[in-house]
Amino acid sequence: MIIDVSGILKEIGGRIDIDCCIDFGKAEFLGSVYDFTSPVKIKGVIRNNGESLTFTAECASTFNTQCARCGRDIEVALSFAVDEDLMQDDSGAESEDAVIFSGGSVEIDEIVLNSFFMNENGKHLCSEGCKGLCPKCGCNLNEKQCGCETESIDPRWASLVDIMNKEN
Ligand SMILES: [Zn+2]
Ligand SMILES: [Zn+2]
Repeated sequence: MIIDVSGILKEIGGRIDIDCCIDFGKAEFLGSVYDFTSPVKIKGVIRNNGESLTFTAECASTFNTQCARCGRDIEVALSFAVDEDLMQDDSGAESEDAVIFSGGSVEIDEIVLNSFFMNENGKHLCSEGCKGLCPKCGCNLNEKQCGCETESIDPRWASLVDIMNKEN
C-alpha cells in the first residue's frame, strides 16, 4: 500500500491517519513461510515531527504455523507495533535506522512486514501443555505414550522405575 505523504512533508506537526488492511498472503522470512490467514490490520499515523516523518501503528495479524514442540498445524494471532522513522532520500539528512523513501510517497507494506518479523519469535505452541514429540520414535506424545525411555535415568532410581513400569 502506498501512502501519499507529499501533503505533510513541509508541514511540521502534519499527520496522516492510517487505518487499513494489507493482504500479505504468504511471506517468507529466514527460510520460514508465513501463511497469513487474514489481511493484517494496521491502525496508526504518519507524522511530521520536524526532522523526519515517523510511522507508528498497532497491527494485528493471524497466520498458520506449526507448533514448536509437536509440529501440528496451528493458527496464531499476533499483535505487533510499528515504530519507524521515514526519511526522504534527497532530504540530505542521514540516519542509519530510518526507512528511506523517494518522492512524496511511502510504501508501507515492507515496513509492516519487517515489524511483524521483528516480533515473531517462531515459538508458538498448540497448547501450553503440549507434550511434543518423542525424541526416539517421533510419535506425538499428545496422542499416545510410545513407552520409549527418553530420559537417562539415575541408576539409583532405575530399579524403582522398573517396579513402576511393571505396575503399569
Ligand atoms: Zn504441540
Ligand atoms: Zn517413542
